Amino acid sequence: MGQCHRACHGSLVGKLIALQPPSGQVLRHTLYTFQGGCIVPKADGSISVGATSEHAGFDKTVTAEGISKILSVQKKMVPALNNARFLRAWAGLRPGSVDDLPLIGPSQSVPGLWIAGGHFRDGILLGPLTGSILAELLQGHPVPPGLDLTPFDPDRFGGWDRTANNDPRLHLSQSTTSHREQD
Ligand SMILES: Cc1cc2nc3c(=O)[nH]c(=O)nc-3n(C[C@H](O)[C@H](O)[C@H](O)COP(=O)(O)OP(=O)(O)OC[C@H]3O[C@@H](n4cnc5c(N)ncnc54)[C@H](O)[C@@H]3O)c2cc1C
Repeated sequence: MGQCHRACHGSLVGKLIALQPPSGQVLRHTLYTFQGGCIVPKADGSISVGATSEHAGFDKTVTAEGISKILSVQKKMVPALNNARFLRAWAGLRPGSVDDLPLIGPSQSVPGLWIAGGHFRDGILLGPLTGSILAELLQGHPVPPGLDLTPFDPDRFGGWDRTANNDPRLHLSQSTTSHREQD
């Protein structure tokens, strides 16, 4: 994370809460709003409600304001959950790069440094593929035919400096934000 000032725009922090609905009350489908809110029934019977999209760098502090925003979405979407038991609140990151593309592969500027990151809003979906590609490369296998990893070159922002200060306190610059503002 040391040279994130060049490679990363930072991260959009997402806060969520989990609710336990009264017994017998079942939500069968995931619900979305056009503003990015979602209510997701989980296999254990709990319901996740989220998520905020906050330009808060890598600060995963769960704030009262964040919870208040989520609850206002829940109240509008499913008021029947107003009596649900509050289980927990947490925050996750959507770490992204300045050109919106992930960083995948070995760094030429720092031998031995391999990067798989910057997947922003899509790390859950793309992580398994990135992981399997990186596993192949790490074993010395060639890039699979037809796959061009050039756009994901970890050095494309000017390379990495092993002596740089490792300061993860980065803030998302609005001017470099070209990301989708949903989910
Ligand atoms: C609310 C929300 C909803 C999302 N929805 C989706 C979705 O629907 N689909 C989708 O594809 N993606 C989604 N994402 C994005 C996805 O979660 C991220 O893209 C993905 O988690 C990024 O993976 P990562 O491994 O780069 O970073 P992370 O998941 O943040 O993992 C980094 C890991 O490194 C650890 N770590 C940090 N510092 C250190 C250190 N110094 N030493 C050791 N370990 C350290 C952390 O504890 C963490 O486990 C969502 C994200 C949020 C917040």
